[in-house]
Amino acid sequence: MSECIFCRIAAGELSADIVHEDDQVLVFKDITPQAPIHLLLIPKRHVSTLLELTEEDGELLTHVFTVIRKVAVEYGLSKKGFRTVINTGDEGGQTVGHLHFHLLGGRHMQWPPG
Ligand code: AMP
Ligand code: ZN
Repeated sequence: MSECIFCRIAAGELSADIVHEDDQVLVFKDITPQAPIHLLLIPKRHVSTLLELTEEDGELLTHVFTVIRKVAVEYGLSKKGFRTVINTGDEGGQTVGHLHFHLLGGRHMQWPPG
C-alpha cells in the first residue's frame, strides 16, 4: 500500500469528496478549505513535485489546465476569477509530497501571499 495520501485517494483507499475524475487526473475538495471554494487537482500518477516534470509531461499539463478551466466554469468562477497555486518544497509551503494544483475561489484573494 502506498504511503502517499494522494495516491491512496487516487486508488480509492482513502475517501475524498471527488468533483472530477478521468484517466489522468482527479479533483477533490480540500479537507481544510482556505476559501469558499478550495479544490485540489492531482495527476493520478505519483509525481512528487513540479520539479519532477519534464517536457514529456506536456500533454498531461495541457489536460490539467483544461480540467481546471472546466471545473472553474462549473463552479461559476469564470466571471469573478479565482486563484491557481502550486506549492513546491519546504519554503514553498508544500505539505503533501504529491504534485497538486490548488483552485481557490469565492472570495477576494490577497497579494502577496503569506
Ligand atoms: P500543500 O500545503 O500545498 O502541500 O497542500 C496540501 C493540501 O492538501 C492542504 O491544503 C491540505 O488541507 C490538503 N489535504 C491534506 N490531506 C487531505 C485529504 N485527505 N483530503 C483532502 N485534502 C487534503
Ligand atoms: Zn502520490
